[in-house]
Amino acid sequence: MSRLVIISNRLPITISQHKGELQYQPSAGGLATGLNSLNDSVNKIWIGWPGIDIKSDEEQERVRKDLRKHNLIPVFLSKKEIKLYYEGFSNKTIWPHFHYFTQYTSYEERYWEAYQKVNQKFEESVLPHLREDDLVWVHDYQLMLLPNLIRRKFPDISIGFFLHIPFPSYEIFRILPWRKEILEGILGANLIGFHTFGYMRHFLSAAYRITGHEHNFGHLKIGNRLVNVDVFPMGIDYEQYAHPEFNLLKENAAFKIKQLAKGNKLVISIDRLDYSKGIPNRIKVIETFFDRYPEYIGKVILVMVVVPSRANVDEYKELKHQIDTLVGEVNGRFRTFDWAPIRYFYRSLNFEELMTLYQEAAIAMITPLRDGMNLVAKEYIASKEDSKKGVLILSEMAGSSNDLPDALTVNPNDLNDIVKALKQALEMNEKEQRWRLENMQKRLKKYTVQHWANTFMSEQKRLMEEQKKQRVYRLQGQTRENLIQHYQTAKKRLIIIDYDGTLMNFHPDPQAVVPDAAIIDILTKLKDDPANKVIISSGRDRQTLEKWLGALQLDMAAEHGVWTKKNNQWSSNPNLGAAWKPEVKDILEDLVERTPGSFIEEKDYSLAWHYRRIDKDLGAKRVREFRDVLLYLTANLDLQVLEGNKVVEIKNAGVNKGKAIMNWINEQKWDFFLAIGDDHTDEDTFEALPKEAYTIKVGIDRTSARFSLASVEEVRSFLSELTEA
Ligand code: UDP
Repeated sequence: MSRLVIISNRLPITISQHKGELQYQPSAGGLATGLNSLNDSVNKIWIGWPGIDIKSDEEQERVRKDLRKHNLIPVFLSKKEIKLYYEGFSNKTIWPHFHYFTQYTSYEERYWEAYQKVNQKFEESVLPHLREDDLVWVHDYQLMLLPNLIRRKFPDISIGFFLHIPFPSYEIFRILPWRKEILEGILGANLIGFHTFGYMRHFLSAAYRITGHEHNFGHLKIGNRLVNVDVFPMGIDYEQYAHPEFNLLKENAAFKIKQLAKGNKLVISIDRLDYSKGIPNRIKVIETFFDRYPEYIGKVILVMVVVPSRANVDEYKELKHQIDTLVGEVNGRFRTFDWAPIRYFYRSLNFEELMTLYQEAAIAMITPLRDGMNLVAKEYIASKEDSKKGVLILSEMAGSSNDLPDALTVNPNDLNDIVKALKQALEMNEKEQRWRLENMQKRLKKYTVQHWANTFMSEQKRLMEEQKKQRVYRLQGQTRENLIQHYQTAKKRLIIIDYDGTLMNFHPDPQAVVPDAAIIDILTKLKDDPANKVIISSGRDRQTLEKWLGALQLDMAAEHGVWTKKNNQWSSNPNLGAAWKPEVKDILEDLVERTPGSFIEEKDYSLAWHYRRIDKDLGAKRVREFRDVLLYLTANLDLQVLEGNKVVEIKNAGVNKGKAIMNWINEQKWDFFLAIGDDHTDEDTFEALPKEAYTIKVGIDRTSARFSLASVEEVRSFLSELTEA
């Protein structure tokens, strides 16, 4: 049975002290609801901070025992840790920054240090509970380093990560001094989820630009791991809001709200106190609205609920003061003896109050300047399941606006736009209200929070299956042992090895990839075994290969087989011409001029355009542009265009690594073939070899090779193993 290990900053429980006794209260956030709803066949444990500072070992042990009964595992954090990691780095650095409030971003090094330490503390608490076949699901911005910390100890475990807040654009994200560490932390996961495509796009862009990992439709390959970055918009527990169960004892509050709604159209505004929510703007909207349309005075009321949050932080204190002042001003200006434009509550509402407000409100005005998702908007729509009356005005900067396209969408910075929407909402006929609500309800009913949790987990499982299939092809375990055994018994072995990306890692400057002592040693040992014929088959020019590897006296194929070196003698493929080069070079020079950072490499019978140092998207655009020109030209010149790893090469048709190795394949009867390579051009080698050959692709891209190794490092250790066999 699969087991889900959920890790979040807070456990879904609130602990309080009452007369010296600890009391446990489950907290019913969206996340807890979604995860609790998962099918019973999923065995769950939840790891996180229990929400209070418990110092004594004895008491910690008691809490641990109590929580264990509910499959909850506490991570105890001291007051100081909470101050620096949670209130500090999480809420004063990441929160403002990721919500585009860079003016509030704190760059305190001690916050960052605490953030790292607490992420490690979570790691230490988590590791003893983990099993190799668990699904781990890490949540949110407080634990962005955790996926990779777990990955280092459990290379093959399935880790999901979900970010519940926006991921900012690369230009904003790159400002952070710790951007690389944060990305690497998240990239330790296999499945990385966001609420919207926008956040996903920003993340992928940052991952490419800062850590160099390219993606293909959201899929990345990191070492031998598949990583999928995708969109999973979080929904709500629809039924809970569509058909809420009321507690009759609280009827009083509900009654008063209903009374209020009888004489007035209620516009509701419900948020935590936060600068990202755009609360002051909303008050200004109301003021402008009554200025512009005084006929609504006495008929419309803004019921504004501000839930206290982070109240000891300076920016929040200032915001509170600003809201208090603005509300006072607007109420002072417009109020009559029996009516006031704003009913302002600085407290949280209980479920009954909240639900009655939702149900009675003619309009919900939800205009955050930035919001990861905003569940209030979704809850409001669900609460209209029976009445089909109500209008949602929703900021386009809220993640939920992607899922609620039939709301009146506004730019929260454009006061006139919101005032207009408010007027439109007040005048909207019931038929229009109904169809807009029905459209949105249909979606919300389907994409509930239960659906969200299930889809995320299914995708995590699917990825794991895919990864396992790949593992079968990885050269390890029994397959590796078989190969080595065969190697030991074989008498005539043909070994073909590519150079760049196989024996040596890529470098922006191709001339910097000089072989190091370790690789020289491995090749020497391989070559010194009389049963081996070792061939370096590369796209590089023969001068470079000769300079770097000539002393080893290996056989070689250079320029994808234009030149071959046998018995220490270089010879070129007959019938090749180079008369075409000036014409093609002109085109490439023009390309280099327009694309700073790219360069031309000229070889005897080929020209290559390298673009490793430029943006991948610009590179792809240029390749597409000049491919057409080249194809036209090369069709008449009997040339071919080869696309390698960040390089496009133009050379005579009929030259490729596969043809080149025929020189050796036919030389004698071999009883063991081994070929290793990393890019497209090596596929010709793999295909030219007999079926029983051991063909090995470096990396996990599509290939015709039979096996794979993850990296240059793995190739090296495999070859060393052969030399010792
Ligand atoms: N909420 C509540 N009591 C209140 C006001 C709000 O329980 O007085 C709940 C509301 O139902 C919603 C959540 O708080 O589920 C707020 O979530 P949202 O995504 O809108 O904003 P966040 O606070 O996460 O930024």
